[in-house]
Amino acid sequence: MTRTLIQGGTIVTAVDTYAADLAIEDGRITAIFAPGSGPPGAYDVTLDAAGKFVLPGGIDGHTHLDMPFGGTTSSDDFETGTLAAAYGGTTSIVDFAIQTKGDPLQKGLDVWHHKAEGKAAIDYAFHMIMTDVNDHTVPEMQRVVDQGVTSFKMFMAYPGVLFVDDGQIFRGMQRAGEIGALICMHAENGIPIDILVQQALAKGHTAPIYHGLTRPQIAEAEGTFRAICLAEMAGAPVYMVHLSAERALKQVVEARDRGLPVFAETCPQYLFLSQDDLGRPGFEGAKYVCTPPLRPKEMQEDLWRGLRTHDLQVVSTDHCPFCMKGQKDLGRDSFAKIPNGMPGIETRLYLLWDGGVRAGRISMNRFVEITSTAPAKIFGLYPRKGTIAVGADADLLVWDGEKRHVLSEKTLHMRVDYSPYEGREVVGGPTHVLSRGKVVVENGAYVGKKGDGRFVKRSTFALT
Ligand SMILES: [Zn+2]
Repeated sequence: MTRTLIQGGTIVTAVDTYAADLAIEDGRITAIFAPGSGPPGAYDVTLDAAGKFVLPGGIDGHTHLDMPFGGTTSSDDFETGTLAAAYGGTTSIVDFAIQTKGDPLQKGLDVWHHKAEGKAAIDYAFHMIMTDVNDHTVPEMQRVVDQGVTSFKMFMAYPGVLFVDDGQIFRGMQRAGEIGALICMHAENGIPIDILVQQALAKGHTAPIYHGLTRPQIAEAEGTFRAICLAEMAGAPVYMVHLSAERALKQVVEARDRGLPVFAETCPQYLFLSQDDLGRPGFEGAKYVCTPPLRPKEMQEDLWRGLRTHDLQVVSTDHCPFCMKGQKDLGRDSFAKIPNGMPGIETRLYLLWDGGVRAGRISMNRFVEITSTAPAKIFGLYPRKGTIAVGADADLLVWDGEKRHVLSEKTLHMRVDYSPYEGREVVGGPTHVLSRGKVVVENGAYVGKKGDGRFVKRSTFALT
């Protein structure tokens, strides 16, 4: 058993900021005490956090590692993706296992366990994507929940691929409501979008910017409203993934004001990038093709406001990287063939600290809440993860609020040949990253090992 002491730091949780030392045994936090007053006894490891913050490790509730999409596969697998996450201070992820149409849910879940097992640097859990909701899969949902996979995602977008119709969504939601599961929605009406895409291509509009122009925010607003209505009728909690648009946010605000269990996340790309990036000259815009698309710049302020007012609860990444060479370039002649997704698993905390906390948009406590505590609560990982408390897993960051570094494909660790934030200097980053008490990143060097990360079973949904 390793005993670790973190001393001299300032602990920051979603609600408190205070100076304290912290003891870890057997992977868990065993004591929090006034600075220098700790119980005598030998520690195997002592970390000096003087002048630094001690934060709960980041929880990224939306990643796509080793995921087949658009005739290729996202370029990070569970080894490279979780390693990059650890470097950036994220100590747990919830990735999306996918049911292949016609197959049992269990088969998709088994495939994802196989992809992750023995490879992850940090702890991981799964959501289950349902591509069929029918007499075979609905009864199977309870069995999936019993295995600690307590949320199901459905898509209103991507007809013919991941799309399910309203009847299927409604049935899935009804069952989720009965068994304590959460529904995650990709709430974007894909049917008119596909028509707009065909019409654009027929006019010879093939450049990456048309990915954005064919997916207007009204498609997301309508999907969000419809998802809320269906969830209300079905009696299920619903969580909007990657909310990007002001009009979609309005729907969430209205539902929450009525007291419905409606939740939403946004992602750093919608806070820090915009349609202008998608419109970069030549084929460079392909780097910024993700779904929903990057929106006009002025919408960034609406999303920041949503984070401040708690109408948006979480910032996750939707990490789904594809290399420019050999992947994004599949769409050189047609934006519709550009694989949708961007890298982000490593850069979320850097961007939110620098552009959120330091820029005066959110407090340190709110930073912890949206990157760790809220996703832990919503996804059933709390109180084991997502806060600093006696008994919680020692997933911790010693965080240097003044550390400067430049985001670049060369300095980051994700397996992708570009960075959407190339050359951007950010201030703030972890000097130590602990996963269940074990130091896995120390002053920029990875000191953990492949397979340190374990599958985590999540509890059923328990918020209102
Ligand atoms: Zn996604």
